[in-house]
Amino acid sequence: MARTHIAGFPRIGAQRELKFAQEAFWRGETDEASLRQVAAGLRQHHWQLQAQAGLDSVAVGDFAYYDQVLGLSALLGALPARFGFDPKQLTLAQYFELARGNKAQPAMEMTKWFDTNYHYLVPELGPDTRFDGGVDWFFDEVEEALALGLNAKPVLIGPLTYLCLSKTHVDGFDRLSLLPGLAAAYGRILSRLRARGIEWVQIDEPALCLDLEPAWLDAYDAAYAELARSGVKLLLATYFDSAADHAARAAALPVQGFHIDLVRAPQQLDAWRKVLPAGAVLSAGVIDGRNIWRTDLRRALSMLAPLHAELGERLWVAPSCSLLHVPVSLEAERKLDAEIKTWLAFATEKLAEVSVLARALNEGETAVAAGLAAADTALASRRGSRRVVNQQVQARVAALSAAMAERKSPFPIRIERQREALQLPALPTTTIGSFPQTPAIRQTRAAYRRGDIGALDYLQRIRGEIETAVRKQEALGLDVLVHGEAERNDMVEYFGEQLCGYTFTENGWVQSYGSRCVKPPVIYGDVYRPEPMTVETTRYAQSLTDRPMKGMLTGPVTMLQWSFVRDDQPRATTTLQLALAIRDEVSDLEQAGIRIIQIDEPALREGLPLRKGDWGAAYLDWAVHAFKISAASVADETQIHTHMCYAEFNDILPAIAALDADVITIETSRSAMELLEGFGEFDYPNEIGPGVYDIHSPRVPSVEAITHLLQRACEVIPPQRLWVNPDCGLKTRAWPETEAALANMVAAARSLREQIGKDSATTWQRTTRSAGLGGRAAHHGAAHAAGCADCASQAA
Ligand code: GLN
Ligand code: ZN
Repeated sequence: MARTHIAGFPRIGAQRELKFAQEAFWRGETDEASLRQVAAGLRQHHWQLQAQAGLDSVAVGDFAYYDQVLGLSALLGALPARFGFDPKQLTLAQYFELARGNKAQPAMEMTKWFDTNYHYLVPELGPDTRFDGGVDWFFDEVEEALALGLNAKPVLIGPLTYLCLSKTHVDGFDRLSLLPGLAAAYGRILSRLRARGIEWVQIDEPALCLDLEPAWLDAYDAAYAELARSGVKLLLATYFDSAADHAARAAALPVQGFHIDLVRAPQQLDAWRKVLPAGAVLSAGVIDGRNIWRTDLRRALSMLAPLHAELGERLWVAPSCSLLHVPVSLEAERKLDAEIKTWLAFATEKLAEVSVLARALNEGETAVAAGLAAADTALASRRGSRRVVNQQVQARVAALSAAMAERKSPFPIRIERQREALQLPALPTTTIGSFPQTPAIRQTRAAYRRGDIGALDYLQRIRGEIETAVRKQEALGLDVLVHGEAERNDMVEYFGEQLCGYTFTENGWVQSYGSRCVKPPVIYGDVYRPEPMTVETTRYAQSLTDRPMKGMLTGPVTMLQWSFVRDDQPRATTTLQLALAIRDEVSDLEQAGIRIIQIDEPALREGLPLRKGDWGAAYLDWAVHAFKISAASVADETQIHTHMCYAEFNDILPAIAALDADVITIETSRSAMELLEGFGEFDYPNEIGPGVYDIHSPRVPSVEAITHLLQRACEVIPPQRLWVNPDCGLKTRAWPETEAALANMVAAARSLREQIGKDSATTWQRTTRSAGLGGRAAHHGAAHAAGCADCASQAA
């Protein structure tokens, strides 16, 4: 008898109940008790769904008031001392202060959970960290499930993963030294669970799918010995990639079972079968926990059947990872195309799939004939649908040549032509694309969506917003203007809605962090652009001004990364389809007289595989190629910009350079200097606009602060290749602070230009040329020395 379970269920609720309860609590409209009540209701409902689906256990401990890693820190009592909270008396209000900051302390750092779009709060550990225990919320949740008479399988992030994801601010501190204390704390938690009659605990160790140093792996044998002393059975869970490299070693740990991700890494099965100890459980993650497609149940069964024959009840059937990464239920999708809807399975529907698979194994396929038939029908419809396959698109992708990814001339030649054509001053000023999305703009878009205003009325109002943005930019003295993106709700959705092959859900929300949820669009078919998407808007914006207007597009990799994507063709192919659609838009913009086109790729880094060894061939090679396909059709005179943010970029600089964009504007708010040094060291060849102020804060940067940053930028990037811009789009800001900040930015650029201007025009020209031809030589050119107070003395 194969058994069934899930690694975790989404916690936000089908109607984002948790979000609304959190936010009401934060606004002070409700108290802790009512938030706890909503949470308990959601947990209970989610367990009932699992029980009703016939799963053998329910996942407990997958709930979190904000984040599961913060929840674990609260359980262990490992809170950053800077907040001064008593870990054992932590209130929910204090827990949220850890996550969101308070008057005295910035929030704990937040970063992406492996390669997902979920963000966790990074444990802050140091020599003084103790794991003496914190709040009992986790145990309370276990009690809730037990009180309902459910077979509770608590889920905990494992010690290896917890330490791996942590950070220390103490120089030279070795986090591994905390492991004995941490393991002892896990031992106490597990013993307590054992005492409550818990049989199995799932210990999540996705860190086993990362590159791990041998010292870290070695340390874990002893730690798991400590965990095992509790006597509770442990299911060691890995997901998001293959953990085959560590299979032999993991098999020797004193644990009773292993969960592996057979969707992302089916090839690891053999390695695990070889080493699986007699008596150990193998939990086969055969249902995609990261995507929304209905499972090919027959294919899953063909993988499971031999395992079942061999393992019997030691085979557990499961989704590949926690269902946290998919929406809750298809039930509330009323507008979704009826045929496409049959192709999908959200978290609730995936529970049923787990159950059908196990029953097919245990009772024979006839017992679940209807379930299998429904899956077959859906799959056949999806495979044969004309909605999915478009021969023209397929043929166009197949016909792509390497030459189509290359600009006509190399950068040094292009940049000369662009300088000639654009006639921009040194240190040109620009912004990243969006301007404040005022309540009026949001209302206009909403009214249009609801049908309250007609297309003409809408067009007029949007044009009014564009004109406002243009006039403000002219008044500020910016050199390269943008139209402000008033018509865009979201940089992916806006394009997705105009592309064929995309669809949208009403309620397909997935938690991104805390109360923030995203609703990724769904790419279900071959993507193409039926008609121009931004040309009319951009042409209108350009008609208002003599200054160059930047066209604004979202790049193919970001379109892919922030959507639910097809699982019936390689991601690379889908990205190339997107790239062709954008390529057509780029050409049309150029035809319409737009001389600068920005193709945003903020999500470029997110697609990186977990292991460095896979970065190139498995991702960056095709991602870079797709970007180049989208950009390369234009004449030398047309300037291609790209923009990146939300990440550290220094370790992928060669790939960023390989994009061969003429200009990159890039977020630097985390550490401007670290980023710039990276670009300097690497000798980034093209033009670059490091963000000179952080748009995430309403604080207006002073002229001095911006000037200082620019001067320091000149130390590592030749000033003739430097742009001046904020570090991301301004849509979340209000106009007053935006105008004040940009005025200071323009003033800083002008004053620095003046310093450079003291240098003779001929020198500037000369340096410009040599800079164009490459790298480091220009770095110490005369213009640089004159422009940068910091190194003028050196040059002299
Ligand atoms: N052009 C977009 C904007 O300005 C870029 C957003 C982003 O980088 N995430 O809003
Ligand atoms: Zn950005």
